[in-house]
Amino acid sequence: MVPTMGALHDGHLSLVRMAGKPTVVVSIFVNPSQFAPHEDFDAYPRDLDSDLNKLGSTGANIIVFAPNAREMYPEGFATSITVGGGSAGLETDFRPHFFAGVATVVAKLLLAALPDTAIFGQKDYQQLLVVTRLAADLGLPTKIIGAPIAREVDGLAMSSRNAYLSASERTVAGNLNKVLKDTIARARETGDLRDAEKYGAAALETVGFDKVDYVAIRDAANLSVATGVSGPARILAAAKIGKTRLIDNMAF
Ligand code: AMP
Repeated sequence: MVPTMGALHDGHLSLVRMAGKPTVVVSIFVNPSQFAPHEDFDAYPRDLDSDLNKLGSTGANIIVFAPNAREMYPEGFATSITVGGGSAGLETDFRPHFFAGVATVVAKLLLAALPDTAIFGQKDYQQLLVVTRLAADLGLPTKIIGAPIAREVDGLAMSSRNAYLSASERTVAGNLNKVLKDTIARARETGDLRDAEKYGAAALETVGFDKVDYVAIRDAANLSVATGVSGPARILAAAKIGKTRLIDNMAF
C-alpha cells in the first residue's frame, strides 16, 4: 500500500514503482484531521483524473482507494491515536495536531486494505518513524518500509506543495537541500552540532526563506538530540517561503 494525499508527482510514483510486481493499493485522501484550521486544507491541490492517469502510466497493478471524508469519518467518529516517542518535538512544535491526524488515518487505511507492506517516503522522515512505531505498537500485520527522497534537478525534494511556489520562490526553495549539505559539512568540520544548526538556520534566511521553523541534527533512529557525529544521524529542516512551508532532511 502507498498512502497519499493525491496531487501525485514522481516522488509518489517512485513509491509505487518500489512496490514492484504485487498489487499496490494507492490511497488518495486529503485528510482533514491532520490540518489545523489556519493551514492549507482548502487550498491543497486536488486532481483525481490527473492522479489516475499518472498511476496508469506506471504500468503497475494498482487499486485506487479514494474515499470521501464522510466515509473515513462518519458522524460520531471520536477516536484519535496519539503516538509518543519520536513524535515529540520538531514538527509537533509547529503542528501539534499533525501526527494524531496522521496516525489515526494511517491506522484506518492500513486496517481497510490490510497490505503486507506499506511504503512511506523518507521525505517525511519524522512521519515515517511515527508510522513505524504505530504499526509496531498496535501489532498491525503490515511491514513499514521507507523510500528514498525523490528530488528535482536542483535537489528540491518533490512535494505537492511546491505547486504553491511562484517562480522566484521556487528559486529560493532550491537552496534548502544545498544549505542542509553545507550544514552537514560545517558540523563535520567543527564537531559542534548546535553551532551547525544555528549556521544552517541563518543560511536559510540569507538565501531568502522568510521563516525558519527548525534546522536540527538528531539521532536517525529515534530523533533524540544527537550530541556527536559518530553514529547515524539525520539533519531535518522546516522553513517557510511566504505562506508555503517546506520540509527536507538528509542522512548524516
Ligand atoms: P503526501 O501525499 O505528501 O502525504 O505523501 C504521500 C507519501 O509520499 C508519503 O509517504 C510521503 O513521504 C511520500 N513522498 C512525498 N514526497 C516524496 C518525495 N519527494 N520522495 C519520496 N517520497 C515522497
